[in-house]
Amino acid sequence: MSALRLQPFLRTAMRTAPRIGARRSLNTASAPTLYSAHAKVVGARKGHVDGENLKVDLTMAKALGGEGDQGKTNPEELFAAGYGACFQSAMNASAAKMGITMPTTIEDSVVETTVHLVGDMKALDMGLRVDMKVKVKGLAKEELQKVVDEAKKVSLKMPTIEDISDKQARIILHALCKDAEIESKATEYLESLHSHAKLTPDPQGTKRKAEEELEICVHCDAVFDMAENHDEACTWHQGDLDPDERCGFWDDYDEGLVDTEENREVYPDMFVWSCCGRLGDEDGCRPQAHEAVYKAARYRD
Ligand SMILES: [Zn+2]
Ligand SMILES: [Zn+2]
Repeated sequence: MSALRLQPFLRTAMRTAPRIGARRSLNTASAPTLYSAHAKVVGARKGHVDGENLKVDLTMAKALGGEGDQGKTNPEELFAAGYGACFQSAMNASAAKMGITMPTTIEDSVVETTVHLVGDMKALDMGLRVDMKVKVKGLAKEELQKVVDEAKKVSLKMPTIEDISDKQARIILHALCKDAEIESKATEYLESLHSHAKLTPDPQGTKRKAEEELEICVHCDAVFDMAENHDEACTWHQGDLDPDERCGFWDDYDEGLVDTEENREVYPDMFVWSCCGRLGDEDGCRPQAHEAVYKAARYRD
């Protein structure tokens, strides 16, 4: 029997998740409804659940200072049960899709889910963390890993960049900035945002409003004001910026590699765009509206 411990589950998922636009995200407000479950709860954590097929009494867990009455359950346990069942179902479907045969005896495929209530109860700042242990008889460890990876994609609504808090964004940015190249790019963006905000004070004299409207363009990397975006604001080139062989400059160049980012910056006019033949310091050939990295472009004509 192969066993995998996915720990802590949601955190593991998060580590591999946010990549802008790289992941299908389901709009749960507009997606077609497949099934609706209903439960009526009275008495909060010490109350009673009355669902269509579920009638259970709740008790506060002893660890949370409650009675922990025998025969009663709690929200975390219900969540663990539902999550585990869904994950196993996602594993079965994923295995079938990949041509991997899961055991036919149900006891040979076991998902153990532990849901932790974490955070600070006094500050009402709490969340859930899920640990999972998956055991499947008859699968090699690599096969099981494949099934689990696929099942995660199906069963988990992984957090996207849009979902994260300011604090989480800072933490992620700090971690990314351990890479010197990313740090210098981030600093560059920050400086552009700052200087642009200073250049465009709003009528009330507060900088805040202007900053909120600022975006960074996916095509030209420039900071722009969403309110001033128009269909020729962004001029960019679709092609590649290659060393210009016609000028003869590079024939005598003996300081190492020619085709480098540094040379593009130092000698922009010695490079030529493959799309239009314009030089590196000339305007782009494809006028269009700027497109924001962060928000969907709000520009309409
Ligand atoms: Zn642009
Ligand atoms: Zn061009």
